Amino acid sequence: MKKIILCLLSISLLASCGSSIEKNNSSQPDTLANKNSTTEKSATQFDNEAAKRIDDANNSDVVYEVALGPNEVQIGSQIWSKLNLDVTNYSNGEEIIQVTDANQLKGLKKGAWCYYNFDPNNGAKYGKLYNWYAVSALRGLAPDGWHIPSYDEWRNLLDNLGYETAASQLKSTYGWKSFQGYITCPICAGWSDVYREGHDCSNCNNSRKVSSILSGNGTNSSGFNALPGGIFSFGAFGEIEEWGLWWSSSLSGDDHAEKFIISFESGSATGIQNERKSSFLSVRCIKN
Ligand SMILES: [Zn+2]
Repeated sequence: MKKIILCLLSISLLASCGSSIEKNNSSQPDTLANKNSTTEKSATQFDNEAAKRIDDANNSDVVYEVALGPNEVQIGSQIWSKLNLDVTNYSNGEEIIQVTDANQLKGLKKGAWCYYNFDPNNGAKYGKLYNWYAVSALRGLAPDGWHIPSYDEWRNLLDNLGYETAASQLKSTYGWKSFQGYITCPICAGWSDVYREGHDCSNCNNSRKVSSILSGNGTNSSGFNALPGGIFSFGAFGEIEEWGLWWSSSLSGDDHAEKFIISFESGSATGIQNERKSSFLSVRCIKN
């Protein structure tokens, strides 16, 4: 089906003006507020109305531009939150169990969240980490109008960006650990083959590559602002500043579900892998 785009610029402006977050974006924590603002709801309502109008008209040539809230980004036809989830309550209002001590986790098969290292400072930077029991709870982990992306929706995100450079486009421009990689030897890079035959490059021993410390940050050209929030699994925290890991809503066998991952090493290291339901990962919501 053809993509349909509808102009809602005025609503977009209203949504932006209604939020103090946009005015203060540099110092804001990268988290989705516990309660949606009314501006988000009105945008959603408008989307629903727009979708209905399009169905009524049954006209696939209508140009359709989605109204985006201040913390939303459109990638392809998907609308993502720019923030990792940070809620303490399910969408029906019930409180989600907070884990503050690893001993609480023994045999825990209920929805729960924790801060990385049980440290609220990490929550302010990366949002909360949730187990999959919270993700799958019927009470609803995602705020109204949103849901946890399925395996296919994560795949679509990669398809939209292209696998080769998706990680670099998704990653924030800060917060990712540097890593040891290789760059072209700066001494002999410009040497011609003829010159090369008669001269050795002591800098790279003629391998034409030298090891170098490379930035793990991305370009964030997608606007997704992926952050390396780490994981709690097998009784230990790990991977903060190195890996971003986000749940999907899709099961993978009895004890596992699929997760989306991005590595600090290189711009293309992304993928979807399974993860134990009892592990705690970041959550990123996608709009209904
Ligand atoms: Zn060289």
